[in-house]
Amino acid sequence: MRIAVLSDIHANLSALDAVLAAAGAVDAVWQLGDIVGYGPDPDGVVDRLRSIGARGVKGNHDAAAVGGLEIEWFNADARGAMEWTRSAIAPGTVAWLTALPEVAVEDEATLVHGSPREPIWEYVTSVPVARANLGLLQTRIGLNGHTHLPVAFVEEDGRIEVVAPGDGSVLELRGRRALVNPGSVGQPRDGDPRSAYLILDTDADTVAWHRVAYDIEAVQADMRAAGLPASLIARLAVGL
Ligand code: ZN
Repeated sequence: MRIAVLSDIHANLSALDAVLAAAGAVDAVWQLGDIVGYGPDPDGVVDRLRSIGARGVKGNHDAAAVGGLEIEWFNADARGAMEWTRSAIAPGTVAWLTALPEVAVEDEATLVHGSPREPIWEYVTSVPVARANLGLLQTRIGLNGHTHLPVAFVEEDGRIEVVAPGDGSVLELRGRRALVNPGSVGQPRDGDPRSAYLILDTDADTVAWHRVAYDIEAVQADMRAAGLPASLIARLAVGL
């Protein structure tokens, strides 16, 4: 199976559509949460994911958008965007987001937003955190997002190898356990403003990271029209 793995779409429909077009024919689309928040088109993104039958989990922004998480945990800009998101989303979007699980198991993979041990909140940014979470994984492969940074932590003979991928990087898993982050579709933070996504090939046992350009200026114009915070609009152009 060839699976497109997407995370942190953040209500950016132009980015999502660019990724889906670039990914081409796939057997499944899995998403790792933070579908909404920050961006200007939460209903559009949810409608698209529903229409293509995407499977996956909720993130901290999705939980906040439907009232399941205290908004005081967010910084000022994220909170401003969240207040707008809560006021803007349709009841059908709320219902769909609410029904998403925090953890999903698909084939050999566990899908979470943050980490296997703290699905909503934990950032996996270091080897010790990755090691602890790999130890908790019930499946061979863990897929997570939340940091908006593409990375993989691969376990071999008790050691953890850190893979920092670029556009087109292919990692051969060769049966190894791994925690893999595709990066962010809708708000990349690694200095490359292009959307990030991952293709998991379960037959070849590989993951491949990709980047694709989208119309950033159009999304920024929509954000401006919605009155979303200026810093969130500016950061899309620099990918930080
Ligand atoms: Zn996020």
